[in-house]
Amino acid sequence: MLEIQSLVKDYGEGEILVRALDHIDLKINEGEMVAIIGPSGSGKSTLMNVLGCLDQATEGIYELDGVTVGSLSEDELSEVRNKKIGFIFQSFNLLAKLTALQNVELPMVYAEAGRKERKEMAMNALEKVSLGDRHHHRPNQLSGGQKQRVAVARALVNTPAILLADEPTGNLDSKSTEDILRLFQALHREGKTILIVTHETEVAKHCQRVIEIRDGKISKDYYNKEVTQK
Ligand code: ADP
Ligand code: MG
Repeated sequence: MLEIQSLVKDYGEGEILVRALDHIDLKINEGEMVAIIGPSGSGKSTLMNVLGCLDQATEGIYELDGVTVGSLSEDELSEVRNKKIGFIFQSFNLLAKLTALQNVELPMVYAEAGRKERKEMAMNALEKVSLGDRHHHRPNQLSGGQKQRVAVARALVNTPAILLADEPTGNLDSKSTEDILRLFQALHREGKTILIVTHETEVAKHCQRVIEIRDGKISKDYYNKEVTQK
């Protein structure tokens, strides 16, 4: 599904050079649900941004779903990002002026689907996160947990190969955190590949595999014997 070899990501240069990722090797198989943990500043978000094609690596090889990402042009990269990746952020990143349904429709602007079909697909995605009845609400009319569920629906709507979530429960109370975890686990059971950056051990316990990053390197990579089911 996804493989990186000797991946390096530097920010800046000369005396202010920061090596955020330091020769990382990693292979994620289709259908895995992986937690990425590690202290603040260890490179977790940088890794997600490179994996999510939001940013390019300085060195190394990245293959996603059969595509060698390093050799792509900007246009090709944004196409890969749009079709193969669903991104979920801590801060939801919904557009305030749009309804839940319109927010979920957004990633389909590049899709060939017609207007009616797009609306139907967005509605299906909202129903999947149990928010079909809130489709006409704007973000400020939704709770944090509901906003994040809209963001999950938006991430799913183009049926991406992989879901990347950077601290998805970082702004949520414990009840909403549970809802989101339950949703991720349901998607995992359907065979989705999911990577979740988190600093909460409770969240990591719900993932089959845990990868720890320290100073831009992988310091641990293990499988949970027992995964807590929600
Ligand atoms: P984490 O998500 O684990 O907290 P980050 O990936 O955000 O860590 O950051 C890793 C390192 O890279 C940190 O030292 C951070 O200061 C640095 N860094 C991240 N983004 C940038 C940037 N855009 N410019 C310069 N340095 C950055
Ligand atoms: Mg981060």
